[in-house]
Amino acid sequence: MKKYARKSDFNGKGINQGYIFNDGQYYCQTEKQAKEYVESKGFNWKEEKQKFNTKNEWFYFTLWEEIDTEELFDIEGNVYTTCVECNEPVNLELKKCESCFTSIYIITLSPSKT
Ligand SMILES: [Zn+2]
Repeated sequence: MKKYARKSDFNGKGINQGYIFNDGQYYCQTEKQAKEYVESKGFNWKEEKQKFNTKNEWFYFTLWEEIDTEELFDIEGNVYTTCVECNEPVNLELKKCESCFTSIYIITLSPSKT
């Protein structure tokens, strides 16, 4: 399974690079999507883009190189955690790991989580 660090709010897909708005209020992958979001807020894309690297910056493009093992996504945007026993990604909607059958209930209560 390919792992993604974030989920796009634009189309619900897993992403490893893209635009982040207001410290994570909104994520999207492409400049086109970012432009659409900015314009949907009633702002001018060119003007807002000029705020990059200034104190008025409220969104920017980034790459997420590290994927959080406790919360990650697949390409479809499904949420996964990582099995503490076998290290495989586990869909949060399943109650246990498909590889080693460790209960996800144990995973979420693991000491590393607290
Ligand atoms: Zn497992």
